[in-house]
Amino acid sequence: MSNDGNGARVVVVGAGPGGYAAAFMAADLGLQVTLIDADPNPGGTCLYRGCIPSKALLHVVKLLHETKHAGVMGLDFGQAKIDLDKLRDWKNGVVAQMTAGTGQLAKMRKVTYIQGRGRLLNGTTVAVTRLDGGQETVSSDYIILATGSRSAAIPGQPLNTARIMGSTAALELADIPERLLVVGGNYIGLELGSVYAALGSRVTVAEMMPQLAPGTDRDLVRILAKRLGQDLEAIWLNTKVAAMQEQADRVQVSLEGDQVEQPQQEFDKVLVAIGRVPNTEDLGLENTKVEIGPDRFIKVDQQLRTAEPTVFAIGDLVGQPLLAHKATHEGRTAAEVIAGHKVAFEPQAIPAVIYTDPEIASVGLTETEAKAQGRRVAVARFSWAASGRATTHGRNDGLTKLIIDPDSERVLGMGIAGPGAGELIAEGTLAVEMAALAKDVALTIHPHPTLSETVMEAADVFFGQSTHVFRPKRG
Ligand code: FAD
Repeated sequence: MSNDGNGARVVVVGAGPGGYAAAFMAADLGLQVTLIDADPNPGGTCLYRGCIPSKALLHVVKLLHETKHAGVMGLDFGQAKIDLDKLRDWKNGVVAQMTAGTGQLAKMRKVTYIQGRGRLLNGTTVAVTRLDGGQETVSSDYIILATGSRSAAIPGQPLNTARIMGSTAALELADIPERLLVVGGNYIGLELGSVYAALGSRVTVAEMMPQLAPGTDRDLVRILAKRLGQDLEAIWLNTKVAAMQEQADRVQVSLEGDQVEQPQQEFDKVLVAIGRVPNTEDLGLENTKVEIGPDRFIKVDQQLRTAEPTVFAIGDLVGQPLLAHKATHEGRTAAEVIAGHKVAFEPQAIPAVIYTDPEIASVGLTETEAKAQGRRVAVARFSWAASGRATTHGRNDGLTKLIIDPDSERVLGMGIAGPGAGELIAEGTLAVEMAALAKDVALTIHPHPTLSETVMEAADVFFGQSTHVFRPKRG
């Protein structure tokens, strides 16, 4: 691959993992790059208000859980003392370290970083309102829109008030409310709910759908739900939050649903985590031919090009899954397309991880999707009850499963529940991306004793030949 950008100019609006990856790739390919974002350094939602601070806090949850459950191993750490100010400082330090790094990387690549907000005047010009109040206009050959997304509000209900938080406010850890309601039982709600529960809040999760993490395979969710059942005050499924009224010292919440016993409840704080909406407003899109779909996302083709030929869009702005690694790969693809490479964004699979305890990770085809599509698949499950490594951790509650095409024996998908699932899913992603056969996975020698062996043994289960499971293959 050549660095053949021919000095073309590109402006990237929004410096999240999509925008800064696009900017860095474009600079590496020889383009002249300007990157615009209101934050002091590149990082966006992911580094400042999403993936990184949440995972820093979830690491603390892991420590708390491990010490709490270490009694069986003969260890007693006593009651953990939590210094909230110090914890907040540590989390902020992690963010500062990471974003200083991206700032340095931008400088080293000679990417011009403007701290401000961009608005398109046409397909090649961006008006920037700098954070210092100044205005400037940046002309370019191409524009990449990467303005990401923000927390969705419950229709007609308040958000971002003193007691009704979105994820950004929740990550600030202003205090530990005695009783917290998390609205939305998907990954953001479950992760942040777990953080608050571990720090001492009595946490209730209300989810509108009949299961947590809707869309994720039930057998995986069941393992998580069992553990969360011990850590949370309550999990209300099929439950809709209809209205919230904020008062000086609490929030009154009205609930709807068949299983709701007490439709009026009071909480000290509420975290609304019901999804995210793309940031398409105030971008000047009306000055271009850029089109927005009925789902509110910007329409792009497989090269991330919008209906305006010089304008590209990437990341959360263009649709599901709203994940950092998808945004990054789209950003890098857009930069390559601008540099003249014949490439497209066409991954076979994008992994998704819920970083709770246990973690849940899936990639490729899920059993749920196969059922919905009426597609015949073989599902090979390996329970962590039979994993040596899981036993040494005192964590036999995991499951690794492979979704396999019964005719070609190709690995179509993988799902895992268990500590470290987020790391383990990379192997499944590679298997799906490389069109691996179950035999490839089974014959790949995995180190012992590791959790990664559960992937190999799940493939062995498909053939009815797992060393640690006796389950003959069904015809
Ligand atoms: P963003 O990261 O949202 O960045 C867009 C940037 O553009 C922002 O800085 C925004 O302020 C800026 N911007 C907006 N408008 C303008 C404008 N007009 N001019 C200039 N700049 C503008 N994903 C994962 O893959 N793994 C995780 O573990 C994970 N955890 C998460 C936890 C939380 C609490 C949240 C909220 C999200 C999490 N995500 C996670 C999702 C992930 O953060 C997003 O998918 C990812 O950040 C999207 O990247 P992006 O580049 O499209 O946009």
